Amino acid sequence: MDARQEKGLQIAATTKLVGEDNMWLVPSQAGKGKYVVDAYAKQCTCPDFEARQATCKHIFAVEYTIRREYTDDGETQTVTQTVTVKKTYKQEWPAYNAAQVNEKDQFQKLLHDLCKGIGEPSQKMGRPRLPFDDIIFSACFKVYSTVSGRRFMSDLRDAKAKGHISQLPCYNSIFNYFEDEALTPYLQMLIEESSLPLTAIESDFAVDSSGFSTCRFVQWVQAKHHNPKLLEARDWVKVHLICGVKTNVVTAVEISDRFAGDSPFFKGLVDTTAQNFVMQEVSADKAYLSAANLQTVVDHKAMPYIPFKINSAAQYGQGKGKRQTEDKKGKWKRKSALWRQMYHYYEYNQSWFMQQYHKRSNVETTFHMIKSKFGDSLRSKTKTAQSKTKTAQINEALCKVLCHNICCLIQSMFELNIKPEFWATEVL
Ligand SMILES: [Zn+2]
Repeated sequence: MDARQEKGLQIAATTKLVGEDNMWLVPSQAGKGKYVVDAYAKQCTCPDFEARQATCKHIFAVEYTIRREYTDDGETQTVTQTVTVKKTYKQEWPAYNAAQVNEKDQFQKLLHDLCKGIGEPSQKMGRPRLPFDDIIFSACFKVYSTVSGRRFMSDLRDAKAKGHISQLPCYNSIFNYFEDEALTPYLQMLIEESSLPLTAIESDFAVDSSGFSTCRFVQWVQAKHHNPKLLEARDWVKVHLICGVKTNVVTAVEISDRFAGDSPFFKGLVDTTAQNFVMQEVSADKAYLSAANLQTVVDHKAMPYIPFKINSAAQYGQGKGKRQTEDKKGKWKRKSALWRQMYHYYEYNQSWFMQQYHKRSNVETTFHMIKSKFGDSLRSKTKTAQSKTKTAQINEALCKVLCHNICCLIQSMFELNIKPEFWATEVL
């Protein structure tokens, strides 16, 4: 048994792992959030796997857990490993099981609580429709359920019986609601609102982007890095998000077309998050490196962890002449000083920098959670105009993010004893 196997066994013995089918969440041993392990593909989102492309301790931990669960009664169990783990650990499963068993009910309750706070936008003339909160509830619940028409309608009738919606929409009209651009800002607002119960938990954040396509067989990473033709050939929606590294909750999101650069979205995401959270760290990959982005994080009294490119030393200007021309712009002087400061700081504290920077992998975990649970493709079939199809795709992508956030809250209710309440200041 090698060191990774041994550590995997320790993790399996001491931690309750959350997972279903092939997707498992394994907490980082250094307390830096969670990694996603794909049990079938034997892949992990941790830096160790990324570097070696070989079985890491998290994959071993999942394998031990799966093996063990087949002989488990699902309630309480005792794991004794005399060879490597000399202690006997007693593990409590009820909390995790309760989260899974009750997820659908909890999901509807939380979604309803969120929707009832949004109010009614001014009705457009002529087109009678359902109350706005019913529309958003139905659209999100459809994305969450991932089941086909008839089964979803019985879920929706159930939701009406429980009082989560006031009227039952017909199945086809749910898809028409996705085409309504009025939905987009409300979905973004709900994503933000749904992150607020975790303000006391999250202080470190990570930023990244990923694409959702209309074709389920084309994957973003494949298209972006290996086959740019796929970017041209398919419809894509690019989701830019920032998430908390402990619970993977998304605190702000922006949508763009497929070719938009990542860096310009950084400031908006960080600023929105700073309105609700006390930020300590923000990490992002080198695509986000700019003096302005570093400054944005520092302005919020947080520490940026964005790696410098190999040629960064030259970029900040070694010749005095170059720096002086920048100084003429006034603002550049300050940015340039921060840039230099950061560059040297990272250079002299590299191993420490890497430790903190590894929290960034949690944003990849977040995308992985969203895509594996709610699908990485978007519906493309609509008989209407191109612009409406695009709106429908944007809204569907936002619904996936909102569904993810609600699931993060449910997990936090059971793991961290959080009691989510929304619209705190609005309700008297
Ligand atoms: Zn791993």
